[in-house]
Amino acid sequence: MKAISLIPGTTTIQLKDWPEPAIQSADEIKVKVLEVGICGTDREEVRGGRADAPPGEKELIIGHEMLSRIVEIGKGVSEYKPGDLVVISVRRECSHCLACKIHRSDLCISGDYTERGIKGRHGFHAEYVVDKMNYAIKVAESIRKIGVLAEPMSVVQKAVEEAEMVQMARLPYLKNPFQGKTALIAGLGPIGLLAALALRLRSSEIIGLDIVDEISPRIQILKEIGGKYFNAKKGKIEELEKRYPNIDFIFDAAGIAKLDFDLLNLLGINGIFILTGVPGDQRLIDIDGAALMRKLVLKNQVMVGSVNESIQHFKKGIQDLQKAVEKWPGVVEKMITNRFPHAEFKKAFASHSPDEIKVVINWEK
Ligand SMILES: [Zn+2]
Ligand SMILES: [Zn+2]
Repeated sequence: MKAISLIPGTTTIQLKDWPEPAIQSADEIKVKVLEVGICGTDREEVRGGRADAPPGEKELIIGHEMLSRIVEIGKGVSEYKPGDLVVISVRRECSHCLACKIHRSDLCISGDYTERGIKGRHGFHAEYVVDKMNYAIKVAESIRKIGVLAEPMSVVQKAVEEAEMVQMARLPYLKNPFQGKTALIAGLGPIGLLAALALRLRSSEIIGLDIVDEISPRIQILKEIGGKYFNAKKGKIEELEKRYPNIDFIFDAAGIAKLDFDLLNLLGINGIFILTGVPGDQRLIDIDGAALMRKLVLKNQVMVGSVNESIQHFKKGIQDLQKAVEKWPGVVEKMITNRFPHAEFKKAFASHSPDEIKVVINWEK
């Protein structure tokens, strides 16, 4: 079969022949990959950044945001059948920490977890993949066109759930802590837009912040789901603060330290700042540490970082994608702006226009 592999730590990627995987045990499924999404992690990997081949190997098949169809099941598989549409999760447990033992490898304490397509395990840019059935999550045919967004949506679900759990634990009278609350989303790439969807579905008012023009497809999508746009290239954060001095939730999907600490001034009483963006090397910034601490303490504020996801977040994410498709027909589809056949993978990794939102490689044919 064909697969896209990388020599980790280099920029050498190629589409080449690999042995087709086969079911080895009763609890495994074999899938035909349909689509694989590309995100910042993949782009970093192919630039020679963080990536690890499986132990004893030199190359890594990349790709971790996938959608596939089952072609074969092991003898012990009863929940799935050939033809089912599924996504396969990314992270795998270490053998020795308590978080992993309760299936929360996203919270792995030892750091010895592995990740398909990223850390020590082959990924999904391949024609076929085999894995344990427990790592597969069913996707309804009604969201076939956008099912490849399940992984980034699951990242969003975990982050939103963390904020929800903090708020529910300290304000137990709340049925829905997001209802009627104002949420600011910094960075309107795929994660930011999916966060906007998730929070709109939970009845928050949304302000999206980015630096692209109003005509950008990102802003069109934001507006079509009822969000307001603030262009940080044209307006100052201080203006935003005057308009919204008490924001309840800030969701960072931009990973820009200077911006985030400026936005912290807008966070209101009992506010929660959710961080999902991972900054690269950036210029040092000056912060009034004492003022920051005063505000965090006197306003009961929480800053929470969130990475990866568990199977339950995939399930919630898929539910949200279904709800979003029903509520805003045709809108979520617009998030996938570029689809390339796998033979043109180099173009897919190189492509990075301002109008681009999610780039996907098609493995169907
Ligand atoms: Zn990703
Ligand atoms: Zn662990």
